[in-house]
Amino acid sequence: MGFSFDISARDGRARTGVISTPRGEIRTPAFMPVGTAATVKAMMPESVRETGADILLGNTYHLMLRPTAERIADLGGLHRFMNWDRPILTDSGGFQVMSLASLRKLTEEGVQFSSHIDGSRHMLTPERSMEIQRLLGSDIVMAFDECPALPADRAAIDASMQLSMRWAQRSRDAFGDRPGHALFGIQQGGLEPDLRARSAEALRAIGFDGYAIGGLAVGEGQEAMFGVLEYAPGQLPEDKPRYLMGVGKPDDIVGAVQRGVDMFDCVLPSRSGRTGQGWTARGPVNLRNARHRDDPRPLEEGCPCPACRNYSRAYLHHVIKSDEIIGAMLLTWHNLAYYQRLMQGLRDAISAGRLELFAARFHEDRAQGDIGLI
Ligand SMILES: [Zn+2]
Repeated sequence: MGFSFDISARDGRARTGVISTPRGEIRTPAFMPVGTAATVKAMMPESVRETGADILLGNTYHLMLRPTAERIADLGGLHRFMNWDRPILTDSGGFQVMSLASLRKLTEEGVQFSSHIDGSRHMLTPERSMEIQRLLGSDIVMAFDECPALPADRAAIDASMQLSMRWAQRSRDAFGDRPGHALFGIQQGGLEPDLRARSAEALRAIGFDGYAIGGLAVGEGQEAMFGVLEYAPGQLPEDKPRYLMGVGKPDDIVGAVQRGVDMFDCVLPSRSGRTGQGWTARGPVNLRNARHRDDPRPLEEGCPCPACRNYSRAYLHHVIKSDEIIGAMLLTWHNLAYYQRLMQGLRDAISAGRLELFAARFHEDRAQGDIGLI
């Protein structure tokens, strides 16, 4: 069985469908929780699945340094290692090496860098990134690219995009023919429509199983990002999944789905779960705030997650203020469950041809703000 993408319904530019892989189906639009170091922090993999996630993201940069891709391969691959038998997408390491590693040296060949853990020297190239992602057993492999920080001048973005396209070809060549595994190319070009078009053209000529829109969510702001999403998804093949990397906040996701994006990943729901922030239909709630101290109501009425079913806002406030581990566990669970409910809502709305109404209600609910004091 191979890798395929079937679109079952469209509404405007939005689409809903299913990506089929030998390890299971991924319903789109899809949100992928981030399992950086072979774990979605504070969650058991079974619990991640219970929130409705079909696929996880793993980070090449972190895993190559610790415990190393070779060790994970010897232990049966990432799925077995972390006890997640469904699809896994791995990033290429390109973005994180630029944001986390030190003493970086970028050449045509790749990036040489020092580990942020112990200072050891490593080299990431398109070929090495493909090898690491194969050793991990990743189902969806990302091409190795360079993501320039914004703002950057046009000449720098152009040169970086062209380097990424040469690396995309090398990634394709090194990936080879692996039935059941997919390789995604990554469009670059910053906020420049013609550079994005040239990048898309180069990627289409190489040919990939899916296409990511890279180089966004790097500090440009929602308005600029939506500006790119007005045209970038349409530059990519219509019949392949489109993945917006590193996005985002719930309203970013809704707007991007309306503009034709199928896949997302972000640390936000899990990371904010560890800092006392709960995401609800009425926007983010800071559980550290003393207003919750005596509140017997759940974080979000009607949410089926354990945090909302079995605990009060007062309890969540208490365990978060006391730095108890269960605080991070419960809030992460709730946040991931909220994100997956949002994705299910988007999929249902697209299927029913009422995405605009869904989006209008989404914004109305958020505009109300959190429930008032009792
Ligand atoms: Zn909940």
